Amino acid sequence: MPKVRDRWAIANWKMNLLPSQTAGYLERLRARLQETQVSVAVCPPYPHLPAATAAAAGSRIRIGAQNLSDRLQGAFTGEVSAAMLQDVGVSLVLVGHSERRRLFGEDDALVAAKMRVALEHGLCPVVCVGEGLQERKVGQTQLWLQHQLQPLWEVAQAFPQAPWLIAYEPIWAIGTGEAATPSIAQETIAFIRVQAEQHLGDIAATLSILYGGSVDPGNASPLALQPAIDGFLVGGASLNPEAFAAIAEALGAAEA
Ligand code: PEP
Repeated sequence: MPKVRDRWAIANWKMNLLPSQTAGYLERLRARLQETQVSVAVCPPYPHLPAATAAAAGSRIRIGAQNLSDRLQGAFTGEVSAAMLQDVGVSLVLVGHSERRRLFGEDDALVAAKMRVALEHGLCPVVCVGEGLQERKVGQTQLWLQHQLQPLWEVAQAFPQAPWLIAYEPIWAIGTGEAATPSIAQETIAFIRVQAEQHLGDIAATLSILYGGSVDPGNASPLALQPAIDGFLVGGASLNPEAFAAIAEALGAAEA
């Protein structure tokens, strides 16, 4: 059967490591990635990006940013535009990570606007959604996700040919060491896929949906075996290139 959805391992360094550590990290990651065929991306902080794109050149590792502005250019101090990211060789960008939503007040409308700008500039947005512990406890996970996803479908419909990814990241699993169980991740991502099919029809077939939240080399294999999970967005464990490579290998092995 032809492979329809790409499997992805994406590293989110958050605000960690130094620009001077970037080339060494990518060298170690390249050395370890020989054996796996899954798509791999690394998202360092902005100042690291030129070093990252240079170190990844000629490899199949793609470099992503962790955020972008919804504005195109001008008097927006501290912001970074899609065109700037493109100019330094970035091809992916995280959008709407829960830390951006929670700590920096990004709402669903802003997340959708950033997704649109990314797509307009040929960047692949990795749009993060996920419920908090309270929503899960009171049985409102699906409602919460529907709400977060609704504006994204409208943007995706306007760019039917452009690749983008969804990362399902329950907030209670991010950075806590308590990953979602394989069955919770499977069930929730399967729900997101049904929503995607309802809103996007055939183009949903190529949309990869990743899981994120305390993935590490120890729990990656059982999660990777779940049929709805197309890959991982990895925070803490991605800071070590060998650990991140082991997670990518687990994804590759589950596909074999
Ligand atoms: C993340 O920040 O996207 C993430 C999944 O973090 P962690 O793997 O550390 O939970």
